[in-house]
Amino acid sequence: MSATSCDVLIAGGGMVGAALALSLARGGLAVALVELRPPPPFVPDSGHDLRVSAINRASQRLFRALGVWEGMRAMRISPYQAMEVWDAGGSGCIRFEARELGEPDLGHIIENRVVQRALWDALDAAPGVTRFCPDAVTLLDIGAREARVTLESGARITTSLVVGADGARSRIREMAGIDLDSRRYGQQALVATVRTALPHQETAWQRFLPTGPLAFLPLSDGRCSVVWSADDERAEQLRDLDDVAFREALAEGLDHRLGAVVESSQRAAFPLRGSQARHYVRPRLALVGDAAHTIHPLAGQGVNLGFQDARALAGVLLHGAVGDPGEFRVLRRYERARRGDNVIMMRAMECFRYGFGSALPPLALGRNLGLMLADRAGPLKRTLARRALGLDSPDLPYSPG
Ligand SMILES: Cc1cc2nc3c(=O)[nH]c(=O)nc-3n(C[C@H](O)[C@H](O)[C@H](O)COP(=O)(O)OP(=O)(O)OC[C@H]3O[C@@H](n4cnc5c(N)ncnc54)[C@H](O)[C@@H]3O)c2cc1C
Repeated sequence: MSATSCDVLIAGGGMVGAALALSLARGGLAVALVELRPPPPFVPDSGHDLRVSAINRASQRLFRALGVWEGMRAMRISPYQAMEVWDAGGSGCIRFEARELGEPDLGHIIENRVVQRALWDALDAAPGVTRFCPDAVTLLDIGAREARVTLESGARITTSLVVGADGARSRIREMAGIDLDSRRYGQQALVATVRTALPHQETAWQRFLPTGPLAFLPLSDGRCSVVWSADDERAEQLRDLDDVAFREALAEGLDHRLGAVVESSQRAAFPLRGSQARHYVRPRLALVGDAAHTIHPLAGQGVNLGFQDARALAGVLLHGAVGDPGEFRVLRRYERARRGDNVIMMRAMECFRYGFGSALPPLALGRNLGLMLADRAGPLKRTLARRALGLDSPDLPYSPG
């Protein structure tokens, strides 16, 4: 058994927790990072992993500031140049292109394990980070002047601040007694990696079907990562199809835009829910990433919002806290900076999901008209794209490291 102390203890070394740990360590704080399992190694010759994220420009900027972007590039990233979104129930369609926006690309599709690995590699060299892995927090005792944490391994740590970055089923959130407003969307996201007969043209394709959106995201080896969000019943049918029938359903779902689907990997399914922790902070405690909020994956925003949480929390701790990172007044600034934005994004995704999932004629007509008009309205379309892709994300007044 060992006893130790630190400024900030982060439970969860996934993408968001690792980014926060690196930001704080670079800023000179002593950090303990507790993670259940080490991230898998990156094996260059292996195929793309099933779990990928569309990483937007704001997150890319954070990775650059942390010095991990080149590490990700050296492993594997897939830039995309265009995005096309259309409705199965009409002729409405909107297309964004990087060159129209004067950008080198619209973003990157990156395997989650690549993001996490690059951050962990940088943590190896960061001063002031102690990792406890494999390990977990078993006891949390939050006092007025410090928090005391006991780990499964028996280690005891005193800290000024505990951060829950332990994902959607956060134990830290539970232990702190913070309620979660949460609702199941009645949909599951089915993911797979596929090869299509026609090239993907470095374009992210998304078709809104009455049962949910189907996305084909372009990968650097010519394949696509598929995310098919479908109502539970449809998702279960799709999961049970044999490979030939599944490939046919995929090609048809995308209206044969990329021709036949000629290869497909195994599939995995994730039940979808939208959630918001009632509070992101308590004295000596903060939540970031999926521990604080989850969102429908239809616009690929979830982890991008989590990275903005990490960036904002690091900002207030490194530049707003005087001596005590657990001070509630300081933590409240983080909550005010992030909760409202995250709620707005969650509601916007719910409107999209409802609007595009509905077969009601006025809604179907409205969304098709909306897509057509938005596609033709140059400035509106540019504003929409720049916002969604994080192209104009303001640099926070604070920068990590
Ligand atoms: C199908 C699908 C597609 C998606 N696509 C996108 C996309 O394109 N773009 C995007 O931005 N987002 C996307 N998301 C959302 C994104 O995957 C999540 O927002 C992101 O993984 C959250 O990261 P996190 O680090 O907060 O949590 P997690 O990734 O859940 O990491 C939590 C970490 O905490 C560890 N942990 C858990 N419990 C404990 C404990 N008790 N003690 C210690 N450690 C613990 C876990 O091992 C894990 O490493 C998608 C989600 C789904 C389901």
